[in-house]
Amino acid sequence: MVNLLDLDAAGLAAFFADLGEKPFRAKQVSHWVHQRFAGEIAAMTDLSKALRERLAAAAEIRGPSVISDTTAADGTRKWLLDVGGGNAVEMVYIPEDDRGTLCISSQAGCALDCAFCSTGKQGFNRNLTTAEMVGQLWHANRALQAGGASAPWVEQGRAPVTNVVMMGMGEPLANYDRVVTALSVFLDDNAYGLSRRRVTLSTSGLVPAIDRLREDCPVALAVSLHAGDDALRDRLVPINRKYPLAELLAACVRYLDRAPRDFVTFEYVMLDGVNDAIGHAHELAALVRDVPCKFNLIPWNPFPGAAFRTSPRPRIVAFQKALIDAGFVTTIRKTRGEDIDAACGQLAGRVEDRTRRTVRIRAAPAESAAH
Ligand code: SAH
Ligand code: SF4
Repeated sequence: MVNLLDLDAAGLAAFFADLGEKPFRAKQVSHWVHQRFAGEIAAMTDLSKALRERLAAAAEIRGPSVISDTTAADGTRKWLLDVGGGNAVEMVYIPEDDRGTLCISSQAGCALDCAFCSTGKQGFNRNLTTAEMVGQLWHANRALQAGGASAPWVEQGRAPVTNVVMMGMGEPLANYDRVVTALSVFLDDNAYGLSRRRVTLSTSGLVPAIDRLREDCPVALAVSLHAGDDALRDRLVPINRKYPLAELLAACVRYLDRAPRDFVTFEYVMLDGVNDAIGHAHELAALVRDVPCKFNLIPWNPFPGAAFRTSPRPRIVAFQKALIDAGFVTTIRKTRGEDIDAACGQLAGRVEDRTRRTVRIRAAPAESAAH
């Protein structure tokens, strides 16, 4: 059985050609699946009954299997999805005034083992399939629509999810081919039709894959920097030992030739006493002075057993000011959905972890309220 969520436009065209059907059928079915979020072939009422039966014999629409679905006080919604073999991944919907952003996972676990990341701490399990990534967007839209999502753009007939960020669990560029196929479905006008500016891929810095993405599917790029010198970055982001800062920054500059935006977003997680001194900000500013970029400072989100603390707010603000004074647009990421462990770096995808964390939050209300 072919899962229709696994196919991009080329895949669907080939599938219908094999069935001996006309090419426009591929578009028709794509509209049903990705624009009307159909859950079964029987719902596709403008296909003849005979065609629906032939299609149902060869294909299905198999979305994610949902373990839990939780909404936070601020409207952030998190789904825990079963990916088999005792593993789960998470996706998070973040509603704002003018957009609805879905944060998608690309792998169960992650092999890159960044020191401060809970996904890294669980090790690598497996790559998600294209269907599992497209299925996240399909399912979120479907669930939000069924729940009567009341956003201005939904009232104008657009889908609930307007922006996608590949910033959930896993390193998207380590699952390159499947991620690029999923991106092509996100961008396809007969599918989700998102502009390349509304799709952001976040990477810890796999240089050769950044160059490939520039050729294959240049979407908005976010790069997880976290340190302005190689010695510190080697410790925090071990892939830096393979692709050090000078190579990474050169790849960012190359990427911008083709990118939908004229800057790269550098993400910088703020770790108390580790990378958050004013001297670090100055070093950073000097390092990236030739790269058109913006900074997004991420207050580190705690998880059980981690050996870090979040930088105190005044220090994050001072760090921001130093970067702004050096001429860089710099924002501080608002922590969303923290009461349901949906904030950056808290996505663990494990049911057991969730239980332990609940205990921790109850035991330390002052600590969780402080972030
Ligand atoms: N693997 C990719 C994308 C997923 S991680 C990457 O590393 O970019 C998405 C972002 O969350 C990265 O910037 C990552 O550094 C950050 N992050 C990881 N753990 C975090 C934590 N505990 N608190 C805050 N941000 C975290
Ligand atoms: Fe993997 Fe990104 Fe976490 Fe690093 S920060 S371990 S690359 S998911």
